[in-house]
Amino acid sequence: MSFTKLSLSAFAIFLSACASNPAVGRSETAKGEAAKSDAVAVAGAPMTKERQAKVTPSAALQLLQDGNNRFLSGKMAKRDLREQVKVTGHGQFPFASVVSCIDSRAAPEVIFDQGVGDVFTARVAGNVVTKDILGSLEYASKVAGSRLIVVVGHTHCGAIKGICDNVKMGNLTDLLEKLRPARDAVPADGTPRNSQNHHFVDQVAEMNVQKQVRQLLDESPILRGLVNEGKLKVVGAMLDVETGKVQFLEDHAAQDKVAGKDLLHL
Ligand SMILES: [Zn+2]
Repeated sequence: MSFTKLSLSAFAIFLSACASNPAVGRSETAKGEAAKSDAVAVAGAPMTKERQAKVTPSAALQLLQDGNNRFLSGKMAKRDLREQVKVTGHGQFPFASVVSCIDSRAAPEVIFDQGVGDVFTARVAGNVVTKDILGSLEYASKVAGSRLIVVVGHTHCGAIKGICDNVKMGNLTDLLEKLRPARDAVPADGTPRNSQNHHFVDQVAEMNVQKQVRQLLDESPILRGLVNEGKLKVVGAMLDVETGKVQFLEDHAAQDKVAGKDLLHL
C-alpha cells in the first residue's frame, strides 16, 4: 500500500522557474505569462460537450490541480456565472466529480476554483462513499461523462474527531461508524488515539480517504470498468484547512487491484 504524492504541474514549475531564474529572458517570461493568461481564460469558460470530450482523466486531474493553485494564489479565473447558467441550462458536461466533507471550508467549487456546470459534487460528513453516493458517481461517470472522481478528506475534520472519541448522537452515530475501520487501521505509535491528538486525527482522515477510494472501486463494477477502459481516474486527496492547499494522492495498490479484478472478473 504505497501512496505517492503526485508532482505539481510542470506548467506551474515552469512559471515558477521563469520568475526566479535570472537566466530566463524577458521574452520567455512574457510567453509564460501569456500562456498563463490563456490557461486562466480557458478555465473560466463554460464546459460544453466539445470541451468535455477533449478532457482526458489525467487532464481532468490537472484542471483541478491548476484550480487549487489559482485558489492558493488568490488569482481565480474570471468567469461570468450568468453566462455559464445560460450555456449550461440545456445540458451539463462536468469534467470531474468530487466527494468531500460537509465542512464549510471544503466546498469543491471554491477550493478548486470552478464555476457553474464544471464539477459534480457529493458532500457528507467524513466524505464517506455511501451506496447513494456510489450510484450518483456511476451516473456522473457512465452517463454524464465525468472523467475523474476525487475523494477529498481534510485536516481537523469534526466527523473524524467524532469517531476518534466514540461519539454517539442521534442519526450521526451510524454515519460515524462508517469511519471506524479507518480509525482502527491507523497503527498504534504510543500516542493518544483521541481527538486531542491532532496528528492522529489527520492520519485517520487520510486513511479514510484511502479506504473510501478502495471501497468505491471494490463495490462498483461500472466504475472499475471505466477505469480499466482508461475513461476514468479515481484518486484521493487531502485538504489542509489551514492553508487551502489540496494534496493529491495516488494509490498504486488500488490501481493494481483494479487491474487484477479486470483479469479475474470482468
Ligand atoms: Zn470534515
